Amino acid sequence: MSHPRPVIAIAGLGIESSAFSPARTEAPAFHPRRGADVLGRYPFLSPGAPLRTAADWRGALVGKALPGGTVTAAAFADLSAELIDRLRKLGPLDGVWYDIHGAMTVEGLDDAEAVLLARIRATVGPDALVSTSMDLHGNVSRELVHRSDLITCYRMAPHEDAMETKERAARNLVDLLASGAPRPVKAWIPVPVLLAGEQTSTRIEPAKSVYAGVEQVAALRGVVDAAIWVGYAWADEPRNRAAVVVTGQDPEAVATGAERLARAFWDARRDFAFVAPTGPLDECLDEALASEARPYFISDTGDNPTAGGAGDVTWGLDQVLSRAEFKDPSGPVVVYASLPGPSAVDEAVRAGVGATVTVTAGAEVDDRHCGPLTLTGVVHAVRHGDPDAETEVVLRVGSVYVILTRLRKPYHHEHDFARLELAPREADVVIVKIGYLEPELYAMAADWRMALTPGGVDQDLTRLGHHRIRRPMFPFDPDMPAPDLRARLIAPSNVPLAAGMLEGPT
Ligand SMILES: [Zn+2]
Repeated sequence: MSHPRPVIAIAGLGIESSAFSPARTEAPAFHPRRGADVLGRYPFLSPGAPLRTAADWRGALVGKALPGGTVTAAAFADLSAELIDRLRKLGPLDGVWYDIHGAMTVEGLDDAEAVLLARIRATVGPDALVSTSMDLHGNVSRELVHRSDLITCYRMAPHEDAMETKERAARNLVDLLASGAPRPVKAWIPVPVLLAGEQTSTRIEPAKSVYAGVEQVAALRGVVDAAIWVGYAWADEPRNRAAVVVTGQDPEAVATGAERLARAFWDARRDFAFVAPTGPLDECLDEALASEARPYFISDTGDNPTAGGAGDVTWGLDQVLSRAEFKDPSGPVVVYASLPGPSAVDEAVRAGVGATVTVTAGAEVDDRHCGPLTLTGVVHAVRHGDPDAETEVVLRVGSVYVILTRLRKPYHHEHDFARLELAPREADVVIVKIGYLEPELYAMAADWRMALTPGGVDQDLTRLGHHRIRRPMFPFDPDMPAPDLRARLIAPSNVPLAAGMLEGPT
């Protein structure tokens, strides 16, 4: 080692971007951090922390965006050019910690994170070691594994172990550099399964047991790390599927461990269930109205902005407003959160609380399922200054309280409603554009259904219209033959892959 402490760069771009949403993501959405500012993202690299002093950490560029639509070609080109330029200026490096999400869809490009890593490799040279950390909803191609020396992902969904995982990836890299051990052996197994995010909570079975196996394999002698990726279903590339990677020094142990995890995941494929009963929206509304449980929550899941939906799909609200039960103000009280409509918000603000207005909102970004909605109602509340929505208004249409926003905003907390003079606990039905209910809403809900509605993150994967994923694939081909779940040992990152290996059948 030419340095007293290893010199390690930190670089990466992270986003979950839906190819099935017409929205586009531009460079500023990544809020890029540069140079020393990058270290501020990670508490375990704060001054004085043991891992901070174990290496000379140098930030190149790390950008993280909220889930959204496809990243534009220009945004990816600009951000990656700057990242590479900054990396080059950091001088000779012993290692790179590549901190990504792994579900980035870029216009006109496949396997964007592997493409970027190839460029990083070309910049830092073959001797630097790369440790890649990911979200378990990322996708892992053979090439991404090849270019990484260590690669891992979260073991929990919801991702309570996100920072723990990043720390593990950083620490394993430091340990590997300090040990002088040879490059780890990597066993990769693609598993031809795609699941909706709302089906893979590790708090419940079967994911709970499947993921418990990860720690057991990681603890085996000769294994450094183990990981299972659920993959990302709302993109349409050959790499979209579940995967397992186990890394370590013992080829036998990593292969056996990887095969055990891949088999467990495959065997459980039919048991991954949604975290709540699902159905078409109309059916969920019927059940809500027939039920005694109050408040009755319904997730309008297809347009969930926190998963990559545009947030302005009007399909769900249109269905609600067309129901005869809600036409009269004395009907069952429904709260609907929410629909962006900047000009509708302006008009309602101008008219003021208590005024009756007719406004048009929604479907400015995603109008594929239903056009803009024209609503006539009474302005119930106006609120300015929300960091996400900027301005929110509530319009009462019949017995439905519709939250309209200037910009898209997820409604996760009781105070999000209370600030708008809404009392969700006293409502009959509360409809929210999210998937699984956030803890406060979950605790409040007397009952709950997940409506499988259309949108950029439609949870009914088989109707999205994938063209480029590999087939057969579960659940698209439910009766497919058993796949080859033997471990593929991937060549070390400094040995070029044979041409046929990059785009091979697996
Ligand atoms: Zn995730």
